[in-house]
Amino acid sequence: MYQILMISSLYIVFKFCDWIIDEVGEWKVKSNIFSNPILRYEYYKASSTSRKMKKLKRMPYNEYLKTQHWELARSAVLKRDENKCADCGKPKEELPLEVHHVTYNRRGKENLEDLITLCKDCHQERHFISTAFE
Ligand SMILES: [Zn+2]
Ligand SMILES: [Zn+2]
Repeated sequence: MYQILMISSLYIVFKFCDWIIDEVGEWKVKSNIFSNPILRYEYYKASSTSRKMKKLKRMPYNEYLKTQHWELARSAVLKRDENKCADCGKPKEELPLEVHHVTYNRRGKENLEDLITLCKDCHQERHFISTAFE
């Protein structure tokens, strides 16, 4: 009787450890997702509603730049471009980096290809070129 009790309580302890490891493991996966800005943005985008996206698309641009959406998108693009200007390669230590819209078609639900990291100078140049051809 004593032996059966020992074995069954050991079994419960093992099961409990299993459960703990699982929980911790899953939690680790989640926290990894959230510490990577690219995954964080993708996760956020996937869980965002279409109503919210429409609202983001319509709001004035200066307001848009203050949203959490833009903050998440911006940090994902900076991470992807390794905090360097995509045109001249200067790092953020040399010039302030800005995130430029290659296209505004998906504003509020941008794919990462719609955005690019540029230094202040290259950013101005891109806008100068695009207005010169308009
Ligand atoms: Zn540059
Ligand atoms: Zn721009």
